[in-house]
Amino acid sequence: MEQDRACHVEHAGRAGRGKALCYPRALFLRGGRLGRVIAVANQKGGVGKTTTAINLAASLAAAERRVLAVDADPQGNLTSGLGRKAVGARPSVYEVIIDQRPLEDVLLPTDLPHLDLAPSDRNLTGAEVELVPLLAREYRLKEALAAVAPRYDYVFIDCPPSLGLLTINALAAAQGLLIPLQCEYFALEGISDLMTTLRRVQRALNPGLQIDGVLLTMVDERTNLTQQVMAEIREHFKQKVFVTTIPRSVRLGEAPSFGKPILLYDIRSKGAEAYLDLAKELMSHEKKGAGQGAVRPPAGS
Ligand code: ATP
Ligand code: MG
Repeated sequence: MEQDRACHVEHAGRAGRGKALCYPRALFLRGGRLGRVIAVANQKGGVGKTTTAINLAASLAAAERRVLAVDADPQGNLTSGLGRKAVGARPSVYEVIIDQRPLEDVLLPTDLPHLDLAPSDRNLTGAEVELVPLLAREYRLKEALAAVAPRYDYVFIDCPPSLGLLTINALAAAQGLLIPLQCEYFALEGISDLMTTLRRVQRALNPGLQIDGVLLTMVDERTNLTQQVMAEIREHFKQKVFVTTIPRSVRLGEAPSFGKPILLYDIRSKGAEAYLDLAKELMSHEKKGAGQGAVRPPAGS
């Protein structure tokens, strides 16, 4: 397996777009969830949303899924973490949402042949306010994605740490919600606000939105506290919690400063292994159609 991964990355680094990779194909038979849009959201800051969006998108792309990563956070961490920077007048998600510029116009390639990026920069900060008076303001991103999403197997939207209009746009556009939870004492603090927002969006904007999974991040299994928090989260979200957990890993923290997903930075690290496992777990839901995401948020949360 290790050898397979290394083999893949060597190809990915050198290969042109679309060149065959030697990832074990049998693990990644194509499924039927074409263009599934997944919002990665949690209004709590620093829980691993962007790290998950980058590395899950990259791991799925390594498995030859066609993936689009959309940066809906004015911090632009998804953009810089994939090695791209805001350059002068280059259009970004801001122009897509506010000026209704076609998403197609802002798409950028990445170092992985099957992964494209819709970049953002600080301009997007203004969008939260500028969206307020606009017609159908909650559906701007959904409308923009409609023309593009069917070309991809997965679209990930990296949300900012708030429940403002950018996150609402992401939730209105998505079929699935992926919630990263940092394994610490206050992991579930504020989760009821997210669940309330989810129900409101389901009621008013997007009845089809489901929780695709809750992901435990920055896990240090050696500590009792982590074990307790993991048990509490599993009790709360039941089968919605991904079996795969993401360990705390120095290499995962370093990779964005080199503008690389972990599998192009250190394929042998525990972090790379974890996100490749997560990609496999997500792809295993393809065969189940709506998969484990078919359940509504837990009552009373
Ligand atoms: P924000 O709410 O500000 O958008 P976020 O939820 O997107 O934050 P990240 O930016 O992914 O969170 O992660 C926060 C910090 O923790 C970053 O410096 C990141 O590199 C680091 N980090 C994320 N996951 C891990 C991990 N598993 N192990 C070690 N460091 C991690
Ligand atoms: Mg982020």
